[in-house]
Amino acid sequence: MQILLDRIRKDGVVKAGNVLKVDRFLNHQMDIGLFREIGKEFKRRFADTEINKILTIEASGIGIACIVAEYFDVPVVFAKKTKTKNIAGDVYTTKVESFTHGTVYDIIVSKEFLGEGDKVLVIDDFLANGKALEGLTALIKDSGAELSGAGIVIEKGFQDGGKRIREKGIRLESLAIVDSMDDETGEIVFRNE
Ligand code: 5GP
Repeated sequence: MQILLDRIRKDGVVKAGNVLKVDRFLNHQMDIGLFREIGKEFKRRFADTEINKILTIEASGIGIACIVAEYFDVPVVFAKKTKTKNIAGDVYTTKVESFTHGTVYDIIVSKEFLGEGDKVLVIDDFLANGKALEGLTALIKDSGAELSGAGIVIEKGFQDGGKRIREKGIRLESLAIVDSMDDETGEIVFRNE
């Protein structure tokens, strides 16, 4: 998706520690025109797939998922991050290790909003080591819902999340795959460009 690659090159900032900052247009300030193009592209890529729900994770996945959902005409559910020790009640829960913060947190989704009969597209902004995506797929499995696929805006191809997810046979569509980036020169190399 060339306009996304161009935008990452123009406004993305490569930070030390394999972090790409895209908060000028993706996950702090949000360019809704670009989000629309992202929504159209996911709709095109998953045109042959049955999807009746989108699942994402707070916070940065939510804005993207909402615009994407316009094109699929389905509801969005977002997994909540929680630090509560005793998680009780009618929720599915699992632990996720955070790439950006280096901590472990619990994510929860109410049983009311995910279950048998749901065909779920997972949407997120980044794929790095794949922990967030694996957490979301675990919740889907526990709920008895079906995972239709995962749509990622930026995959960092030099980290192993994408490889592991694809090896599990999960349909994964990433709109931009970064094969390498250099925090000293700012250079970003994309796959297939
Ligand atoms: P993973 O669980 O795949 O290791 O990391 C995915 C999550 O970490 C995403 O939900 C995203 O919020 C965050 N993340 C991972 N890498 C980056 C990055 O390079 N830049 C930003 N802004 N967020 C990232």
